[in-house]
Amino acid sequence: MSVPFFDITRQNKVVQAQIDSALKSVVDSGRYILGSNVAELEKEFAAYVGTKFAVGVASGTDALHLALRACVIQAGDEVLLPTFTFVATAEAIAYCGARPVFVDIETSSFNIDPSALAAKLTSKTKAILPVHLYGQAASMESIMSFAKQHNLKVIEDCAQSTGATFNGQQTGAFGDAGCFSFFPTKNLGCFGDGGMITTNDEKVAEEIKVLRMHGSRKTYYHDIIGYNSRLDELQAAILRVKLPLLNNYIKARRKNAEHYYQILKDLKSVSLPLETSKAQHTYNQFTLRVDKRNQLAEFLKAKGIPSMVYYPLSLHQQKPFLSGEHYSVSEKAQSEVLSLPIFPELTTEELKAVSSAVKEFYTK
Ligand SMILES: *Cc1c(COP(=O)(O)O)cnc(C)c1O
Repeated sequence: MSVPFFDITRQNKVVQAQIDSALKSVVDSGRYILGSNVAELEKEFAAYVGTKFAVGVASGTDALHLALRACVIQAGDEVLLPTFTFVATAEAIAYCGARPVFVDIETSSFNIDPSALAAKLTSKTKAILPVHLYGQAASMESIMSFAKQHNLKVIEDCAQSTGATFNGQQTGAFGDAGCFSFFPTKNLGCFGDGGMITTNDEKVAEEIKVLRMHGSRKTYYHDIIGYNSRLDELQAAILRVKLPLLNNYIKARRKNAEHYYQILKDLKSVSLPLETSKAQHTYNQFTLRVDKRNQLAEFLKAKGIPSMVYYPLSLHQQKPFLSGEHYSVSEKAQSEVLSLPIFPELTTEELKAVSSAVKEFYTK
């Protein structure tokens, strides 16, 4: 049996008629840039996350970059971030001329280790950029109190965590800004690139609107060097169809995770993701720690079952950020992690094929 790692077309089919008519109405309107769909989605998304404002931008990477800019992160500044994340988290800091300062992660959650922050603090530290990796919130209580104590901005990377909560509050509602991605594989995906920034700070929201529009407040008058970074009307129209279904998508991901917990819980060579009572997991990825990771991946592949390694190399070991430093928890994780298919529309048959193959590898 061949199982897809991810297939967004299954999700699309359920809402095909609504998407078709939403797209047609955008096409017919002739308004393709910053029209009513983006404006309405911004209101709906802010209401979902529980922030006062949301601003649509061209991607999750741009969301991080523009949020850092709006929080006045600039050349000479240092920003703390986990070394175990997608490269965009660090790129966005570098785009501002600031220095990404890596911090090791917690073994249990794969997220930035709050107890490792203090050792990295200098007089140049201006912000913390926690990532809610795999769809589970970082330890936001500790991070927010550390930030408050040292007068640091907090910019959350919510690219993988749309819909995740910590103590009942949505990720993206804790810091000065929350940065979301609508890349197709994320919890809420569109048909291309798209992103959103949430904030309770009106000045930050206004500054991002200026930055996304060539530094302009008034048409053809430019106050600063900005960017061309807008969420498309067509993407916003699709996202408005899917946002009301996001909680169902997350429920389905959690149900799929439940299957894996049931079948794999007794395997000694497999550590399952740990969900705490505070940080509700959305399972954007279902990531195991395993012995003989590469052999397992090969074994699964031969059976038509795909898996992915997020991420094979920590950022402090990537060419643009090489430092010679070591982060032992992150380096251990990169050699052990393996993500299984978890998207909401997987069938029971497919889930069984995946879980029984993993089980077979360790019990054969
Ligand atoms: C996907 C992702 C991004 C970037 O989002 P794009 O929309 O692809 O630009 C940033 N950070 C993390 C952790 C991601 O997973």
